[in-house]
Amino acid sequence: MKASIIVIGTELTRGIIQDRNSSLISRELTHLGVHVSEIVALPDDGTIKSVLGALMRSSDLVVITGGLGPTSDDMTRYAIAEAAGRDLVRDGKCWDFLLSKLGEKAYGANSRQAMIPEGFSAIANRNGTAPGFYGYGGSTLLVSLPGPPREMEPMLYESVLPLVKEKLDLPDVERDEYTSFITAEAKLEELYGSVDPELDWGTRFQDYRISLYVSGKTKTLRDETVARLRKLVGVHRIEDGQVDALGILISTLESRGATVSAAESCTGGLASELLTSRPGSSRYMLGSVTSYAPSVKRDVLGVKESTIERYGTVSAKCAIEMAEGVLRLTGSDYSLSVTGVAGPDTDEGKAVGTVHLAFAGRGRETSSVLLRFSSWGRDSIRRKAVVSAFLLLSAYIDGEDPAAIAGGWEYI
Ligand code: ATP
Repeated sequence: MKASIIVIGTELTRGIIQDRNSSLISRELTHLGVHVSEIVALPDDGTIKSVLGALMRSSDLVVITGGLGPTSDDMTRYAIAEAAGRDLVRDGKCWDFLLSKLGEKAYGANSRQAMIPEGFSAIANRNGTAPGFYGYGGSTLLVSLPGPPREMEPMLYESVLPLVKEKLDLPDVERDEYTSFITAEAKLEELYGSVDPELDWGTRFQDYRISLYVSGKTKTLRDETVARLRKLVGVHRIEDGQVDALGILISTLESRGATVSAAESCTGGLASELLTSRPGSSRYMLGSVTSYAPSVKRDVLGVKESTIERYGTVSAKCAIEMAEGVLRLTGSDYSLSVTGVAGPDTDEGKAVGTVHLAFAGRGRETSSVLLRFSSWGRDSIRRKAVVSAFLLLSAYIDGEDPAAIAGGWEYI
């Protein structure tokens, strides 16, 4: 089976933005056993018409992203209709969907988004207004998706890949999914390469985590491979399925009906932002203190002056007193604290990436952890610190020892 991918967008061909869609689509099609023979980037100027005709002659499948928006330069749907020899017609389901999302605004230029080639079927877009669509041009399956990756990606996984498997009659390939935390994607790929010579695998960067999948051969071989990888990076760093660190912590808290609070320094409220980001978060999240200046750590959280003078604010002792302080202030069952060096603007003389975490619980001994993250910039350190805090607090609540766990973490 042969496939081609067309990514449409003048910003792409002028080098203003980088194409993210074709590599993902190509990787996923390759894993299904489809040979991707061409990837083409085209401007929004109608060039697609001639290119699509040529690719349809050589491909069983053409996947196109971009150019489905309401603006007049979005010509994809016209080109596909022409290439398939169909008229554009208003799709009832797409129109109802547009009306429900846009109300009166659906009647303007947006109404074009409900037009698809006659005989084609719509593909729902839960993150935007432009649905995708698929159908046949001759014997070639044509799939058209919106350009923005956050709209395109869920549509690819939820609709297009199952559709391609069915329509091209591809055999089932067994595949296991995992989630990896706080390892850079390139490092994870390097480590994977060192443990597995044989299986098909791939990674996908997601917010605050990396998805890893392993497919082919036997389940035993796949399990053994992932076990070797787990051994390399350490406990709780690779979990089964598609999970996220916040979700892991929330289910630990919810299974006990427990509450949490946070005291943050270098993460500036990121843990707190995430802890309040899900519906129902008031069930478990009581509050937080962003204590950036030493005086706030002292006056609000009760960190001792002697601790600050003797150990500084980037220290295990300070992290412990911050975690205990916010536990007292909020009356939560558990708390976490983060203090460290996310960027070079510090006068504490500690290396960038040095982060102390602490975990406190009512009636529990407070536990602290020192992590030294490789520095990929301020944002990366803050994100890794928060993900680590969620994973380790969850383990602490489960009665595990965070320091022992983090002591075995490599490649962070
Ligand atoms: P919209 O309704 O947003 O206009 P669309 O299907 O018409 O959807 P485009 O107009 O082609 O999509 O692209 C919209 C934006 O999506 C682009 O400005 C760019 O930011 C992003 N985008 C589109 N294609 C890609 C791509 N291949 N890789 C990365 N980003 C992309």
